[in-house]
Amino acid sequence: MTALVWADAATPEEGAEQAAALFRETFDYEPRGVWSAPGRVNIIGEHVDYNGGPCLPIALPHRAFVALSPRADRMVRLVSTQTRAAVDVLDLDTLGPKGTPGEVTNHWTAYLAGVAWALDRAGYGPLRGFDAALWSCVPLGAGLSSSAALECATAVALDEVCSLGLAGTVEAPDDEGRKVLVEAAQAAENQIAGANTGGLDQTASLRCREGHALALDCRDMSTRQVPFDLGAVGLELLVIDTRAKHSLADGQYGSRRADCEESARILGVDQLVDVEDVDEASAALGGERLAARTRHVVSEIARTRAFIELLDEGPLEGVRVAVAGALMNDSHDSLRDDYEVSCEELDVAVEAARAAGAYGARMTGGGFGGSAIALVSADAVLGVARAVADAYEARGWQAPHFIRALPGAPAGRLS
Ligand code: ADP
Ligand code: MG
Repeated sequence: MTALVWADAATPEEGAEQAAALFRETFDYEPRGVWSAPGRVNIIGEHVDYNGGPCLPIALPHRAFVALSPRADRMVRLVSTQTRAAVDVLDLDTLGPKGTPGEVTNHWTAYLAGVAWALDRAGYGPLRGFDAALWSCVPLGAGLSSSAALECATAVALDEVCSLGLAGTVEAPDDEGRKVLVEAAQAAENQIAGANTGGLDQTASLRCREGHALALDCRDMSTRQVPFDLGAVGLELLVIDTRAKHSLADGQYGSRRADCEESARILGVDQLVDVEDVDEASAALGGERLAARTRHVVSEIARTRAFIELLDEGPLEGVRVAVAGALMNDSHDSLRDDYEVSCEELDVAVEAARAAGAYGARMTGGGFGGSAIALVSADAVLGVARAVADAYEARGWQAPHFIRALPGAPAGRLS
């Protein structure tokens, strides 16, 4: 029996010290401050963001920490322990979108420098250049949004050192101002890093609150805080990082979006969130593939609304936890069978978690690898994790990593 691998979050003090130490050692002076932003996990509402549907993310306790100081010129110097030790130097006057002469070739630096570029473009510039050191404990490429964490930590840092007045504080966030930062972070990811994603990740990182899930309506990006204090009712959310990443992920994401757009066009609606009768829609779509995609989107939107209503009624106790678990299970089955974005590693994790007593389990994020989540009573967490790890070992797969997720704080400077 191999040991379970827990990918625990660093404490805010540890993370801040790691980033500050890297800054000092690289640039040989004290950073102005350290800002951080969380990764996220989506509880339910998968592959509906780009169809105008609702989703329900929480901020993870895992954060990216950016130690930063503004410069007098427009240069950006960046360093991260996790990628490589060498300092990357960029110029805000010449950097530009993917596919243009100013494109950023070193991927990870695009996420940071891209935020300054986007704020410039949004009329908040010209921003000063900066020196920054990055340290993060958000698992990379696990579908937990390590990329948005980088962008959002940079966004709140630049907000403060350039006196943009948009973010407020962690304790008293300025939700309107943060919408502007969400857009800048998303523009950095879409245009400078060249990754075609919606605004869910950045919204979660900047606008979630501790102890709450964020009910996000992706039609207009309006939000509502929903109490989600699992600890108070003896529950935990176990995140299972499968450590698998299948090369199909990017192409399949694009083709699912295209399927949804085509379905909406045939049905004569703006977005699939506007479909009223799924049986009628299926008949109109004819082809089995588009009908199945639409079935997932419409049913997932209904499940997410039901889940949010459950949380509004009260804590997840008694019959409510059973219903919540069933909604999560149905979500996974729909993503596996109708949307076809799961994979063996995700299915095995979900099946093993359910068999070991989880109330519900599902893949989360884009699919084809990444992470699954399980809603588990606190005293069953170890047993469920063990069952998943054993199922992986029996297949000769690399060991999954586990996270116990409690809803954490949004991006900002932690005291
Ligand atoms: P996810 O956001 O789900 O973790 P992405 O592929 O969107 O997956 O983002 C992962 C990318 O983010 C990495 O390839 C790297 O470029 C960047 N990244 C994340 N964390 C770090 C880090 N600590 N140091 C350097 N780059 C990082
Ligand atoms: Mg990402």
